[in-house]
Amino acid sequence: ARKAALAASSGPGATSDGHKVPLLANIGGPADVPAAVEAGAEGVGLFRTEFLFLDDSKNAPSEEKQVEAYRQVLEAFPEGRVVVRVLDAGADKPLDFLTPADEPNPALGVRGLRSLLDHPDVLRTQLTALSKAAEGLPVHLEVMAPMVADRADAKAFADACRAAGLHAKFGAMVEIPSASLRARSILREVEFLSLGTNDLAQYTFAADRQVGAVSRLQDPWQPALLDLVAMSAEAARAEGKSCGVCGEAASDPLLACVLTGLGVTSLSMGAASIPYVRATLAKYTLAQCERAAAAARAGDSAEEARAAAQAVLSGE
Ligand code: PEP
Ligand code: MG
Repeated sequence: ARKAALAASSGPGATSDGHKVPLLANIGGPADVPAAVEAGAEGVGLFRTEFLFLDDSKNAPSEEKQVEAYRQVLEAFPEGRVVVRVLDAGADKPLDFLTPADEPNPALGVRGLRSLLDHPDVLRTQLTALSKAAEGLPVHLEVMAPMVADRADAKAFADACRAAGLHAKFGAMVEIPSASLRARSILREVEFLSLGTNDLAQYTFAADRQVGAVSRLQDPWQPALLDLVAMSAEAARAEGKSCGVCGEAASDPLLACVLTGLGVTSLSMGAASIPYVRATLAKYTLAQCERAAAAARAGDSAEEARAAAQAVLSGE
């Protein structure tokens, strides 16, 4: 039955009553594109561009090399959306030419957008390469910054995009609780939000995502994390803008329904999860997802939240 359900699962992501939730793929480079297309991804919700930089931690890749790699991805989704994240270096992904060597707490140091604002030449090259790669293609290019903390960060990123002449939507990842709490202020500067629930959980619970001993606190069902998701989605709705999820949370079919009920407008995940999420979402109405979301938020633990959502959706 599971196989039949998956085989029947194709087409755009939507609830049973037709509320559309685009299902997008997380990719790390052109090599991941075939699996995304095969899974019926409606586009790319998170293109992690770090892969281009990791071959050589001493120098940034040339503009030409970047144009080539971005072009391959953009051409694969001619009519679709492709959300490219600019370089997210530092912490678990240090680069010699960007990351300070002597930080006592790298996850709290100069990483993500912070390193790019300290090295505007690296950001400029990447944005120029994206602009050239998208030239003449009908693709809906969106570009977002990792680790945006506040409105000043969002403005600095949007200014850099405009200065590079990029014709794209500019967005901010919500990975730091301050960005959820002040989402409306960030949305004065950018056109969309994308929740990076992996880092958002890490920073909300002060629990390093690389430390197994604190993995309980990395559970995306934690009601505190659901509250921050709801807050971000409500802010985006109030501003008439979109708020997707591109962290691991989106790949859990039941949680995907809850995220939809919280007001998230798209879900991006590893390609392998797309058929499962599509099939599960198609079983419930938006109103059921909203009830499951409310029930989950009323829990006091990740376990309670999951059980409550499950109970609502299975009609108990
Ligand atoms: C996240 O933090 O949830 C995210 C999508 O980014 P990454 O996992 O690449 O840090
Ligand atoms: Mg992240």
